Amino acid sequence: MGVRDDAEAIAPELVRLRRDIHREPEIGLHLPGTQSKILDALEGLPLEISVGTALSSVTAVLRGGGAAARGGDARGGDAKGPVVLLRGDMDALPVAERTGLDYASQTEGVMHACGHDLHVAMLAGAARLLAARQRDLPGTVVFMFQPGEEGHAGARHMIAEGVLDAAGQRPVAAYALHVASSELPAGVCSTRPGTMLAAAEILEVTVRGHGGHGSQPHLAADPIPVACEMVTALQTLVTRKFDVFDPVVITVGTFHAGTVDNVIPDEATFLATVRSFSPAARDRVRESALALVGGIASGHGVTVSASFRDGYPVTVNDAAETRFAARVAADLLGEERCLAQPDPLTGAEDFSFVLEQVPGAYLMLGACPPGADPATAPNNHAADAVFDDSVLSAGAALYAELALQRLAL
Ligand SMILES: [Zn+2]
Ligand SMILES: [Zn+2]
Repeated sequence: MGVRDDAEAIAPELVRLRRDIHREPEIGLHLPGTQSKILDALEGLPLEISVGTALSSVTAVLRGGGAAARGGDARGGDAKGPVVLLRGDMDALPVAERTGLDYASQTEGVMHACGHDLHVAMLAGAARLLAARQRDLPGTVVFMFQPGEEGHAGARHMIAEGVLDAAGQRPVAAYALHVASSELPAGVCSTRPGTMLAAAEILEVTVRGHGGHGSQPHLAADPIPVACEMVTALQTLVTRKFDVFDPVVITVGTFHAGTVDNVIPDEATFLATVRSFSPAARDRVRESALALVGGIASGHGVTVSASFRDGYPVTVNDAAETRFAARVAADLLGEERCLAQPDPLTGAEDFSFVLEQVPGAYLMLGACPPGADPATAPNNHAADAVFDDSVLSAGAALYAELALQRLAL
């Protein structure tokens, strides 16, 4: 039987696993319940399993027996073949679920609203499918079950703990799937070469003057108008210093200063989200935003501390790996179910840290429930977002085929 048929055969188990995880969502880097469900699902498979220390990750390595046949390094009698990495993230969000599903979250205020529960089930399914083909597998597969995608940089922690060297040699390629509750119909995938998702980081600014009486501003150094000037100047920076075809977005989301009307405060602070779509624009916006706020502060005789809190870099799909992955997806799902995505997504992803070191591709997989209109269905992160289970077997098969076919190249 083919991978797709085998995936169909284990679909009920994948649905069960996904719903078990959905019922008990966990946030952040420490997801002990989710980790133990993954370990249970992998039980009995011929995998080398290790777990994280700084986070509750699971790394599973499947070594194939087919490398010697295709000329792997047999000198030491230990034919290896290439390594491919497959990644599925595990964490949920601080969202109070309103789907009304019978397997809805039982944890108050926490929900798998980004579909990472499906990713875990699909990746565990791929491990099953590939383990059944271990003897013929012409290389090694690393399964990266990753906590903390939603703002906790779990991928960076797993890289620091050695996931990219888990098989003893670097992967030749890395792939990740992400489900979408809207925009794409169930079972339709989309991807693009080059920039797939934005870089996102937080600009933190504190302007320090010195306070005084509101009636005598000339005796104080008022930080509020200076900080206001920075906010508007940052918008001018976006429109005057950046190519409209390589855009950046700066949105000031918080601004705090002062206590009452007639007291000039010592400080004003604000936070902005800064998004960019190329590594060059990211470097430039960091540099120019810091120079701009520094210049404004010194022009007004106040001081400023400004810094970028480490966010996620641009997620860049390798052109050749994306072509390959799109072809595998088209063969598996049907030509008409594999779309070329016109623009990058404005969201950000910590799989970007993996793609900085290993060429690979990130693919979206539609999971909009049948009967719902993808154009109007609640999107990822919404409290009423619903991801359809019917895509689990297709997702597991796609992960497995990506590894199988990439190792056989
Ligand atoms: Zn998300
Ligand atoms: Zn997500």
